[in-house]
Amino acid sequence: MSTPTSGPLPVVAVVGRPNVGKSTLVNRFLGRRAAVVQDTPGVTRDRIAYEALWNGKNFTVVDTGGWEPKAAGMAASIARQAEYAMKTADVIVLVVDAQVGVTETDLAAARVLRRSEQPVILVANKVDDERSEAGAAELWSLGLGEPHPVSALHGRSAGDLLDLVLDAMPEAPRESLEVGGPRRVALVGRPNVGKSSLINRLSKQERSVVDSVAGTTVDPVDSIVRLDGEDWKFVDTAGLRKRVGTASGTEYYASLRTEAAIEAAEVAVVLLAADEVISEQDQRIITQVIEAGRALVIAINKWDTLDEDRHAQLEKEISRDLARIQWAHRVNISALKGRGVHKLADHLRSALESWEFRVPTAELNGYVRQLVQETPPPARGGRAPKIKYVTQADVRPPRFVVFSTGFLEAGYRRFLERKLREKWGFEGTPIEVSVKVRE
Ligand code: GDP
Ligand code: GDP
Repeated sequence: MSTPTSGPLPVVAVVGRPNVGKSTLVNRFLGRRAAVVQDTPGVTRDRIAYEALWNGKNFTVVDTGGWEPKAAGMAASIARQAEYAMKTADVIVLVVDAQVGVTETDLAAARVLRRSEQPVILVANKVDDERSEAGAAELWSLGLGEPHPVSALHGRSAGDLLDLVLDAMPEAPRESLEVGGPRRVALVGRPNVGKSSLINRLSKQERSVVDSVAGTTVDPVDSIVRLDGEDWKFVDTAGLRKRVGTASGTEYYASLRTEAAIEAAEVAVVLLAADEVISEQDQRIITQVIEAGRALVIAINKWDTLDEDRHAQLEKEISRDLARIQWAHRVNISALKGRGVHKLADHLRSALESWEFRVPTAELNGYVRQLVQETPPPARGGRAPKIKYVTQADVRPPRFVVFSTGFLEAGYRRFLERKLREKWGFEGTPIEVSVKVRE
């Protein structure tokens, strides 16, 4: 069913040298629903954007065909085309004519696209029957991972290719990464850990700029706080600002508030209290943040209540209780005395950076290929699944999709997650590894 969409759609750019079948493939993508929505003259002649719909998802397909087929400038021209796609698209489809094989021009495009931060899907076109599939294997040499054999003309495997494109597509188009205004922070924690004290401290300590932020609408329930030279929007803090010392309402109300704040935020600060053990309720709030896919910073408040000699012991206890989120940054603070609170901004920034980090596809696949070689997935029922390709389908938070010939057990998925963290850190953000099984 077609749903009316607002805001920009994710963009799929189809690139490749002339005559490889880009336009034919784009028509496949569009099917009968094809509708020209935009014609962008200028940079490249005939770059045309179409709105497409597949499996209920709307997106824009950009056909980059139609540029001057001047033999001499071909490699340079395709390199520019690829650069442009990398700057503007969420997913890039490189089409190569498998009947002709790899040409200098294809190599020039691949060289550029190997640096792409967006997923690149390599299509071996004109594989009209099973017999010609062997020709597609040559395309591995482009260094862009597995070539996907299709026949744009006859539709062979075109549906599978679209599934792949959709899987690689981020939930929100990249434009949304650049929305202006302060980053949104949720300050959450069970009653009495010191949330009101902290928000009051932050608003006092730094000039509160509620009325003076250019170009942002500040909801009356939010507070804009300047930390370390940067404005942050602490969402849904109305009830917190004046409330120090008063009762904190029912737990039910508090948990709804927590949920709403996390949803509205990009990063959550979960506040814990150093003078009490980490409770189930604390753990539940941490789980809420992870399940909502938000960046996470742990702040341990009331640090002033501890004797010096308790510090090391407590750190150990906390590490044990929070072993499942070793990746989260921790900062010890005292809302009451103001100690440590200036460190919050750095932790917020670095958690958000991880949350938005994208691993270049080629690098990701190179790394995973090596991992799998050293530690292959365990066999089930006598057959070991083969991992064919990995893509980072999304950011905010990073989500990885592993294409495999068989199901990968949870233990092996956790192993992959651990290895991805070992290599790229992802400190301060949950990440997700899921598996797509194809023959
Ligand atoms: P582009 O616009 O340069 O990317 O290429 P076109 O889409 O115009 O296709 C170039 C030529 O290749 C046309 O004659 C198409 O009919 C043909 N073609 C496209 N896809 C296939 C295919 O899958 N198999 C075969 N045999 N021919 C194809
Ligand atoms: P909230 O329910 O999470 O908003 O917690 P409050 O901010 O109302 O704080 C609960 C109690 O803890 C109050 O009595 C505060 O004075 C006290 N408190 C908050 N922060 C600190 C701190 O850093 N150190 C100490 N010693 N007490 C604190």
